[in-house]
Amino acid sequence: MSFADWKIKTGGAQTPAHGDSRLVLSITRMTIHNGPGMRTLILFKGCPLHCIWCSTPESQKTKPELGVYPMKCIRCGDCIPVCPTKAISLPDGKLTVNRSLCNVCGKCVDVCNAKALEIMGHRMTITQLVTEVKKDEIVYKYSHGGVTISGGEPLFDTEFALNLLKAFKAEGINTGVDTCGEVPWKGLEPTLLYVDFFLWDIKHMDPEQHKKLTGVSNKLILSNAKAVAARNVPLYIRIPLIPGYNDSEENIRATCEFSRGLASVVQVDIMPLHHLGKARYDSLDRMYPIAGLALYSDEAILGIKHIVESYGLKCVIQA
Ligand code: SF4
Ligand code: SF4
Repeated sequence: MSFADWKIKTGGAQTPAHGDSRLVLSITRMTIHNGPGMRTLILFKGCPLHCIWCSTPESQKTKPELGVYPMKCIRCGDCIPVCPTKAISLPDGKLTVNRSLCNVCGKCVDVCNAKALEIMGHRMTITQLVTEVKKDEIVYKYSHGGVTISGGEPLFDTEFALNLLKAFKAEGINTGVDTCGEVPWKGLEPTLLYVDFFLWDIKHMDPEQHKKLTGVSNKLILSNAKAVAARNVPLYIRIPLIPGYNDSEENIRATCEFSRGLASVVQVDIMPLHHLGKARYDSLDRMYPIAGLALYSDEAILGIKHIVESYGLKCVIQA
C-alpha cells in the first residue's frame, strides 16, 4: 500500500499509539537534496524547536492537525452534515472551521472530493515504513541513495528512531538523519551505529540568539555535533539563511569555524530563505511570522558561499 493509499485507508481516524509507531507527515520518493544519491524522505511530526522561519509548521506539534484550503473548496457543503461537532460552516461561501470545536476526526476529509481538507499526520508502524521504503531498493542501489528521516525532529522519540534505523539497516538500506540536534545524548548515542550520515542544522552560534529564534539554547546541539564527529559519523552541516536573523558575517564565520573543527564534516549546505511554507501556515490558521522578508539575491548567496569556502569547507547551495 502506498502512503497515499494509507492516508485514504486510515482517513482522519487517529489510530491508537503503539510503541513501534509514530505520526508521519509525508513520504516522498526519489528526492535528491537529502543526502547522497536518490533518497526516500520521511517527515515525522513533532519537534522540540519552534524556529520562527519554520517552513513546515505542520511538523511542530505531536498530534494530527486539520489543514484547511478554502481556495480549493467548491462549496458543495458535503462536509457540513458529516461533522460530528458542527465545526464547519460556509459563511459568505468561504470554508471555515471552528478549531475549538474540531476534534480532528477526519470525517470531513473523507467526503471532500476537492481536497480542500487534509489530515496532517498519519500513524505508521516500523514495519509499514520499512515496507514502503524498500519499494525503491533498486533506485538506492543504482544511485547510491537510501532513506533520510526528517521532520519535525526524527529523533524526537529516540526509542522509536533507534528501532526504525535498526530495521532499515537489517534490510541493508543506507540511512540519513536530518536533525536539529536537540536530542539527549543518552538517546542519540545508541543510534550512531545505525546512521550512515547526519544532516545537522546549525541555526545560530550565539546561545541567546538561538534561544530567541528557536525556543532553545544551542548548547546541546553543538555539544552533540562534536560528540557525533568524534565518533566519525559523517556530518553535512546545514545553515538556514534568514536575512537579518542569522546571516551576519560574524555568525557565518563563527559557524564555519565550528564546522571545520568537526573531523567528520563532509560539506556545509546553505539553505537560503524561501516562502514556500506560507500556504501551510494559512491552512492551519496560523500567522506566518516572517511574511514580507525579502529573498536573497544570487550575489548575496554567492558571497556567503565564498565565505564558507574560505574556511576550506565544501559548500553547496540547497534549494
Ligand atoms: S466537502 Fe470540500 S469542497 Fe465541499 S464544502 Fe466541504 S471543504 Fe468545500
Ligand atoms: S475533522 Fe474537525 S471539522 Fe472535520 S469532521 Fe472532524 S471535527 Fe469536523
